[in-house]
Amino acid sequence: MTDVSGALKNPGSSFAFSEALEFEPCEIMGDVLRFEDAALSGLLFGAEETVSIDAELNVTVRAHCARCLEEVACPMRVQVKADFSRAPGEDEYPIAGHLIDAGKAAFDELLTQLPMRFLCKEDCLGLCPVCGSNRNKSLCTCLEGAVRPNPFSALNVLLHDQNNKEV
Ligand SMILES: [Zn+2]
Ligand SMILES: [Zn+2]
Repeated sequence: MTDVSGALKNPGSSFAFSEALEFEPCEIMGDVLRFEDAALSGLLFGAEETVSIDAELNVTVRAHCARCLEEVACPMRVQVKADFSRAPGEDEYPIAGHLIDAGKAAFDELLTQLPMRFLCKEDCLGLCPVCGSNRNKSLCTCLEGAVRPNPFSALNVLLHDQNNKEV
């Protein structure tokens, strides 16, 4: 929570602020995201009965690659602009006494900026659907037939089976 009594007492002036934040892990799109080293810094603006912030959130998001499931550490920088009021309307956060929860506003903004999915690298090869190995680390040969299907392979198998039976 951020003390905004100075801003409330001095409408029209701005105050620099910065604080470390703790965000709880949260489940998004089937992955559990964790947040490290979250810090918010910027300016507080006081007005009559309201306070605005214009700040920057820096945070490291720990997620898992959507293709290979390896852990990914993704540093993010998010612009946070929010209004706080003693009588909050839509799109405003409350002022409780002389405190605001700037972290809540920052987290809400972060959620809107998260990528649809995290990748360890753009060209991540993912897991082999056959043997399950991480294809970035070891290139198995399971998919070689699937990539360039040979129209005769099924026939070969059939013929091979028949030959086996006749033997
Ligand atoms: Zn990956
Ligand atoms: Zn494989």
